[in-house]
Amino acid sequence: MLNLEQEVGVWDSVLLEPLSEDTFIANLQQRFKRDHIYTYIGNVLVSVNPYKKLALYSTDLVETYVKRGPFQLPPHIYAIAGSAYRWLNDRNEDQCIVVTGESGSGKTEAARIVLQFLVLVSGDIVGVKLMKDRLVQANTLLEAFGNARTMKNDNASRFGKFLDIEFDYKGDPVGGHLTHYFLDKARVTSLSPGDRNFHIFYQLLAGADIHLLKCLKLQRNVEHYNILQTVNNQPTLTDDEDKKLFVYTKSALEVLGFSVEDIIDIFQVIAIVLKLGNLQFVPCNNIDGTEGCAISNEYELFEICELLGAEHRWLQRALTSRQIEDGILADLNAYEASKIRDILCKTLYSRLFTWLINKINEIIKGQRLGKRKVLGVLDLYGFEVFEKNSFEQLIINYCNEKLHQFITNVTLKEEQEEIIREGLEWAKIEYFNNIVICQLLEHESHGILSLLEESHVQSDSCYLNRVEQCCAGHSYCLAADATLPQYSFQIRHYAGTVTYNVHEFLEKNRDSLPKEISRAMFRFDHPLMKSLFPEGNPKRCTFKRPVSKSVQLRVSLNSLLKSLNSRQIHYIRCLKPNEMKQPRILEMALIQHQVRYLGLVPTVQIWRSGYCYRLAYPQFLCRYKMICGNTWPRWRGSPIEGVSVLLRSLPIPSAEFTFGRNKLFVRSPRTVFELEDFRRVR
Ligand code: ADP
Ligand code: MG
Repeated sequence: MLNLEQEVGVWDSVLLEPLSEDTFIANLQQRFKRDHIYTYIGNVLVSVNPYKKLALYSTDLVETYVKRGPFQLPPHIYAIAGSAYRWLNDRNEDQCIVVTGESGSGKTEAARIVLQFLVLVSGDIVGVKLMKDRLVQANTLLEAFGNARTMKNDNASRFGKFLDIEFDYKGDPVGGHLTHYFLDKARVTSLSPGDRNFHIFYQLLAGADIHLLKCLKLQRNVEHYNILQTVNNQPTLTDDEDKKLFVYTKSALEVLGFSVEDIIDIFQVIAIVLKLGNLQFVPCNNIDGTEGCAISNEYELFEICELLGAEHRWLQRALTSRQIEDGILADLNAYEASKIRDILCKTLYSRLFTWLINKINEIIKGQRLGKRKVLGVLDLYGFEVFEKNSFEQLIINYCNEKLHQFITNVTLKEEQEEIIREGLEWAKIEYFNNIVICQLLEHESHGILSLLEESHVQSDSCYLNRVEQCCAGHSYCLAADATLPQYSFQIRHYAGTVTYNVHEFLEKNRDSLPKEISRAMFRFDHPLMKSLFPEGNPKRCTFKRPVSKSVQLRVSLNSLLKSLNSRQIHYIRCLKPNEMKQPRILEMALIQHQVRYLGLVPTVQIWRSGYCYRLAYPQFLCRYKMICGNTWPRWRGSPIEGVSVLLRSLPIPSAEFTFGRNKLFVRSPRTVFELEDFRRVR
């Protein structure tokens, strides 16, 4: 199956001679043409999305990669997953595989392949097998509820995902934990042309049998539902795939141990979102001359309330009026009521998503015994730029800036600093550090995200004014400029320039739900509604304003990056070959753009002159002294001399090692694995 003769170009760009951006890209291109989509830069894996099924993934191949060890075989995700797994078991250190790339570059597929590898290499005793099934099914479920078709990707993840898997001392998965970041819930009620809503809506309509549809009071026809039409009123479509995937989604729920009642509750929420989205408000005049509104298709409301087991007037009142003082209601006009309807649809959906994740976490929860180590897979959303960009894109692109900053720091900045500190010879390597853009976004007093939190900023235009006042002169921001479209500002992100329209920024960031709505939802005789809207419980005396979206995200992102700091990290950097989602087409300009902003050529340069692994002398000695036959364990000299004696006794060329002030540096990953192998056979 593996035919090494057919390999083309070089596996590892570190070996390119001469090295330049052109030769780097030409190598990728040459390999891509022959379906060799993976190439290394040292221990970083570069992957180019083939947009077609390749015979690269199988149980046999997993076994081959496990047996032969990484770096002895052509580059593959299995090799990266294999080294993370090996480091976890051999060195007992937490690991993380960080998958990056723009939307449609293949991150989610890569994360899936990592999981497939881990499932295949680990044991099969009853408890472990169940845990593995659950981890895989959790993925299936999240894709149904968290992914959607966009112009860029037919299966675009609309949330960021970090799956941590906990392993026991035998290397078997015994638990896991999922963290999700910012679900793009705006699409629940507003779809750009070419996009679809979350998969689950279509899966349910196409896949549910007549009985289930009837019990949910749904019609199979997608055109019947407003939230499944794009903003220019084009219906989005279901296909046979949705029908098939519904079976998988249902079985994922079952394998994960959701009860029959839970499953019905979940589908009911989906049905309610669909039906709520259909509610139409028409203006009407009150006796006192003020403008109010009425629901023109009340039957939808009746059906929703039948599903929820409730009196329809509560919900009707909550949707069409607002409490101004205790007991005094003011009517909303039709426009205001339809805004509230949309907010409710989005909130219901996103809270259901969070509820699902919490449930999954209870189900896959491990024991977190002190010594257990974890291997995480990070699949955040990729950098995004559309024709119209809003708050969601700003948040997603901010995540990307932060992650890019983290990777640049670890792989380029700190690497160089340490090498200089250790007194090794070094030619400085130039790269772009995006810290300036991170600061533009998150500076405490006048960062673009921080300005959203200012108490006197009460409207989108006031926000835009503040951005113009504080950031217009910044070299990575364009604001208050005649060339910009109305109500917008522009950021020069590390991965490209994006123009953001500030419409609804404040509302999306605040993300608050009128308390009448929470109260009405809590009143329903429906257990899931009560847990989705706990703040609606009248027994709760305080009604806290929720933390804003951007603050929430910043807190969780910082804690993620902190946790990554204490782990061994492995990188998979995904590239998108073309914008048409087509196989066999590699657009040079597009690849060049990604190669540039990802800083891949500087990464190769660092690897060429650098080292993959280093350890302080005492630790090195402590770990590897047992592989040296006779001199040990009574070494009385200095650790550095000890290491030197140790290395001389090994059949590894001395050029593989460099002595720094405090640490020994090892050049290639292969040597590290050789050292580990020596330990194992001793
Ligand atoms: P991302 O998560 O980066 O947005 P995805 O992983 O969802 O991108 O990939 C987009 C699409 O590209 C997938 O739905 C699949 O059709 C195709 N694809 C990605 N990686 C592979 C692969 N290794 N082999 C075959 N097709 C792939
Ligand atoms: Mg994805």
